[in-house]
Amino acid sequence: MTRPPLAVLVAAALAFAAGVGAADYDLLIRNGRVVDGTGAPWRRADVAVHGDTIVAVAQHLDGTARRVVDAGGRVVAPGFIDLHSHARRGIFEVPSAENYVRQGVTTLVEGPDGSSALPLGPFLDKLEALGPGVNFASLVGHGSIREAVLGRANRAPAAAELARMQELVRQAMREGAFGLSTGLFYVPGSFARTDEVIALARVAGELGGIHTSHMRDEAGLVLESVKETIAIGEEGHLPTQLTHHKMIGRAAWGRSAESLRLVQEARERGVDVTIDQYPYTASSTALAAALLPAWALEGGAEPLRRRLADPAERARILEVVKDKIRNERGGGDPRNIAIAACGFDRTLEGRTLADILQGRGLPPTLENAGVLALEIVERGGASAIFHAISEEDVERILVSPYTMIASDGEIPAFGQGAPHPRSYGTFARVLAVYVREKKLLTLEEAVRKMTSLPAARLGLGDRGVLRPGMKADLVVLDPGTIRDRATFEKPHQYAEGVSLVIVNGEVVLDAERMTGARPGRVLRGPAFVRPKAP
Ligand SMILES: [Zn+2]
Repeated sequence: MTRPPLAVLVAAALAFAAGVGAADYDLLIRNGRVVDGTGAPWRRADVAVHGDTIVAVAQHLDGTARRVVDAGGRVVAPGFIDLHSHARRGIFEVPSAENYVRQGVTTLVEGPDGSSALPLGPFLDKLEALGPGVNFASLVGHGSIREAVLGRANRAPAAAELARMQELVRQAMREGAFGLSTGLFYVPGSFARTDEVIALARVAGELGGIHTSHMRDEAGLVLESVKETIAIGEEGHLPTQLTHHKMIGRAAWGRSAESLRLVQEARERGVDVTIDQYPYTASSTALAAALLPAWALEGGAEPLRRRLADPAERARILEVVKDKIRNERGGGDPRNIAIAACGFDRTLEGRTLADILQGRGLPPTLENAGVLALEIVERGGASAIFHAISEEDVERILVSPYTMIASDGEIPAFGQGAPHPRSYGTFARVLAVYVREKKLLTLEEAVRKMTSLPAARLGLGDRGVLRPGMKADLVVLDPGTIRDRATFEKPHQYAEGVSLVIVNGEVVLDAERMTGARPGRVLRGPAFVRPKAP
């Protein structure tokens, strides 16, 4: 049980003292502009909550409530659902998930990019015992399963090994996964052929799950990767999703027109393919994964160390790193790569490769940047931010009706390192920049991309739409002032403009203050089988 916020306790005590019997509602939000998540135009309405459920939505609701909130004409919407989150990194340290709550997010989906907890069941149980501030769901990661069976080997699985991997997918689905995520860009997912992924996707699909993919390539071969992601859905017979869809590097810029056409054509022939995206022109991942060739990472840290110790191998790796700085993630310039987190030297955090080189009195050439990147990888690695995406592609992908909003973020330790601002800003940024300033999306369409669209994708029948009978995950925000404040230079800044957030009927953000309540639930997927009590 989580404790109700003080204000609710006070209201309840006052109601009791006044001799008022049971109120009609626990919570009544009056005078809001209800954006219901379906894309329908906003309407002025009151919203009533009883327990964890929305019980009434109407132009005017009579009746008593333990607490009445005057929304003052602000927007009342379903809580946002983030289908691509790396929140398991921080949820145990920051169970409130404040950086997400302040953007209006009430449900986080973990296990993306082929990487999840495995086995999934014990992780979800641990999370349930913790009691997070927001709801939590998870996919099962193909890379995690592959690593459990094949290690980091670059080969296809034998028949028995593939059967074992399928069994692990089945087990995770029974434990509550919502589907299979792949990270075909990352080792060891990158060592999998498409047929292996399809064989596993079929199992997830048979059990009602979806597939989302951090694709094999988001740069020069991005269109081939889009086709592969579509093929996994088509031949695996399950919904498939291009996650954090983007075009990395100048050579790929503009190709979103073609990728969206591929999605459209696939949908027309009956493939259930969708997209998610974060609204920034920079990506973030491990420096080694972004810049080194996959073959150099085969086997893990020790083989990589040996390869780098061999001058000929090192030279081959360096050539690839330089090429990726020039043509892919590096955006052609060492100034475009900034260190986000670096365990062995925190003074590097927030600095670009160019800046670090200049600090050593070296010119920021591609050659020097490549050598520096290898040195950082050798000394323990770092995560980095890569400015190599064009705004034109961001906008084109954003306005597609098949695109939902997802952060690809995490729960950062507040103030530590220089993480990508997406963790603090994604949802607020879409509403501020792309709805209010650029007017590329209507408010209703943007909210749909944050609520009913991801809910439908996950098969969540009781969240993502604001109507009676649905779970009371709600957000009250001011569409005139909501904004992201996190920047690449100063990422640790919460979003503004969200005043009230309710999760399962309990207030977690009240007048822009965190209440400390932790009413979040672990959501289990379509094939979940509750284990019998011992
Ligand atoms: Zn990813």
